[in-house]
Amino acid sequence: MSRPFRVIVDPDAFLHNLTITKKLARNSTVLAMVKSNAYGHGIEALLPALHHVEILGVSCLEEAIELRELGCTQPIILVEGFFRTDDLELITTLNLQVVLHQPYQLQMLEQVKLTKPLVVWLKVNIGMNRLGFPVEAIDMIQTQLKKNLNVEKPINLITHFSDADNLTSNKTQKQIELFQQISMKFTGLKSLANSAALLSLNAFHLDMVRPGIMLYGVSPFPGKIGADFNLKPVMTVCSELIAVNQIKKGDAIGYGSTWVCPENMPVGVVAIGYGDGYPRHAKNGTQVLVNGIMTGLVGRVSMDMISVDLRPCSKARVGDEVVLWGQGLPIEKVAASADTIAYELLCHINTKSVRLH
Ligand SMILES: *Cc1c(COP(=O)(O)O)cnc(C)c1O
Repeated sequence: MSRPFRVIVDPDAFLHNLTITKKLARNSTVLAMVKSNAYGHGIEALLPALHHVEILGVSCLEEAIELRELGCTQPIILVEGFFRTDDLELITTLNLQVVLHQPYQLQMLEQVKLTKPLVVWLKVNIGMNRLGFPVEAIDMIQTQLKKNLNVEKPINLITHFSDADNLTSNKTQKQIELFQQISMKFTGLKSLANSAALLSLNAFHLDMVRPGIMLYGVSPFPGKIGADFNLKPVMTVCSELIAVNQIKKGDAIGYGSTWVCPENMPVGVVAIGYGDGYPRHAKNGTQVLVNGIMTGLVGRVSMDMISVDLRPCSKARVGDEVVLWGQGLPIEKVAASADTIAYELLCHINTKSVRLH
């Protein structure tokens, strides 16, 4: 008998979310962000759905190579660009596009003679202060790149918001104004919107939008869930009860005895823990679905087990199904209860157990 923990990935839900995203994006091209193994879902599980995407975004060359090996033929953007001169020829051969954000990349492009010009996205820093050239340097760099035979013309412009998920902040508006000023000098394509910007800035999608989290059915905004935007969860994490115990009033559950039973009660043990990617910091009361009935976590999360309150589902038996997030239980709620974001839960789940829906 194998361990009952499993991750169910639903490519149809991904396609549904892609359709919604394309409608919202209207005339903009939709680049699907599939970095970190498609936000932890596993590239292979989503492969048939990825063929419906016009362009893909990844962090590094290794991820792009995997996509090519799996037969994805559309353009792929390396959103962190390249780190080594030696990789440039392979990048062009594989028809990858690069984001340029640091002077070392400009120098490397001066030092090579590529067989085919590279499509580049010049990244400007408008306040995230992570990747991107300063606003003041952008004109000069564009002039320099225009003279470089290794670079496809025109030069494309890209940026990334720092606060697009905060609907009460006015920072995004200021960053848009800054981007608009710079972009007037560019004739190439322009891109700035992640999921949060795509969902909140109707009129400002430019040539290409770059949704990630919403394609997986998850809300980028705190306090909201994917269903609020008619999105469907792509990942459902399930396991089963492997033990059901009657615990006496006053007895404690798990390591550190952090939860004490207020009455005589049934407590279930579920085969999932932080070793599988369930968040160790999930608090007492974090929602769990047992046989479709909502109940809560009790006691600390162990490496391969958690305990759950079975009072609301007193008929529950060993072998009964438990959903940790996904269908019927929004991941955003679990993330909030573990003081983290859904992105992290998705990326940390152990995809060795991925099954298709
Ligand atoms: C990850 C990423 C995105 C997608 O962000 P979501 O919040 O998941 O929509 C967009 N652009 C860049 C540059 C990214 O790294």
